[in-house]
Amino acid sequence: MLELVFLLLPVAAGYGYVMGRNSLRQAQRKQSKLLSRHYFKGLNFLLSDQPDKAVDSLIKMINLDNDTIETHIAMGNFFRHRGELDRAIRVHQNLIDRDEIDPEHKEQALKELGRDYMLAGFLERAEGAYLQLLESDKYYLDAQQQLFNIYQTTKEWGKAIELAERMMKCRSENEELCQRLSHFYCEKSALLIANQEIEAAESLLEKAVMIDDHAVRPWLMLGELAIKNQQYKQATEYLFEVPKRDAEWLSEVISSLEHCAEHIDDWSEYESKLDEHWHSCASAYLSKARLIASKESIEAASQYLADQLKSHPTMKGFDVLLSFYMEQHAGDDVAASLGNLHSLIENQLGQRPKYRCGNCGFSGKKVHWLCPSCKNWGVIKPIVGLDGE
Ligand SMILES: [Zn+2]
Repeated sequence: MLELVFLLLPVAAGYGYVMGRNSLRQAQRKQSKLLSRHYFKGLNFLLSDQPDKAVDSLIKMINLDNDTIETHIAMGNFFRHRGELDRAIRVHQNLIDRDEIDPEHKEQALKELGRDYMLAGFLERAEGAYLQLLESDKYYLDAQQQLFNIYQTTKEWGKAIELAERMMKCRSENEELCQRLSHFYCEKSALLIANQEIEAAESLLEKAVMIDDHAVRPWLMLGELAIKNQQYKQATEYLFEVPKRDAEWLSEVISSLEHCAEHIDDWSEYESKLDEHWHSCASAYLSKARLIASKESIEAASQYLADQLKSHPTMKGFDVLLSFYMEQHAGDDVAASLGNLHSLIENQLGQRPKYRCGNCGFSGKKVHWLCPSCKNWGVIKPIVGLDGE
């Protein structure tokens, strides 16, 4: 009898195994059936143009199967592309709220949620989403860029500085980040100057100089501050740093340097330091022509300017040459005709832009350190050529 019991044991084990497998299959079939039901219900709602019901139905699927997460992220993106941002936010937010979702998918959903919020104009919420992504190895660059975009829009330069400094500490620093941080210091400094907090502004400008070797903006601002404080020698030193950093900005400092030389009443340093640069832009050779006119004669200045214009023609150069000729012919008929021509050119020059973006071609009469069109820092420079320098 006992032998019979032992003989039946494998049969009982086999029966148990088959029953267990069947019950697992049954559970899976039940789950799959439920999933399909929600899926087809959702699809049906979508097709019958009832997207809110579709969202509700499809969201229920997440409880059932983690494999559907990619589909849900894509569905949220689909709503965003259609401009239905509230639905996109619901889908992506629902994914993030789930405890069962794995960290990688959570980060992906967070990134998409950030984009939804950005497009919807909820910058504070987008900031919250992107701040969480700064720890992500995969998305930190995207998060950093979006956070900079937010702070640039809201002009929260303190936060922008904090983020850039943090990124430089924990991630490797790069030229683009250094240039950006330098501009953030300058922006914050401009606010402090407007608030009469000059010392704090100056210390930020010094930081801006240190962080970016090619930055001209902090030197220009330091020069302007020194001129305001009537420290003309100091201002001259600051302003001469500008062409050393970027020769294309020389034209921007000529009039301020002339102003300082006039106040110090010493043109020798100005002349000697610019000796190699007189021909590099219209503002420089016009300044030299004015110096020749005051030291020698208007005829000598006209001759110098005419020579410069042969190799480096500019409208502003021709305009000044006309004014020199008018001076030489003061009182006669030629002066009157030249006067008409002079005012026509002046009028044209007044309508021309002075600065252009080297990246997207945006042009304007004012310097924009952050291009309003392509949103890049330091890409707008004085226009070179017949119309400019
Ligand atoms: Zn641009």
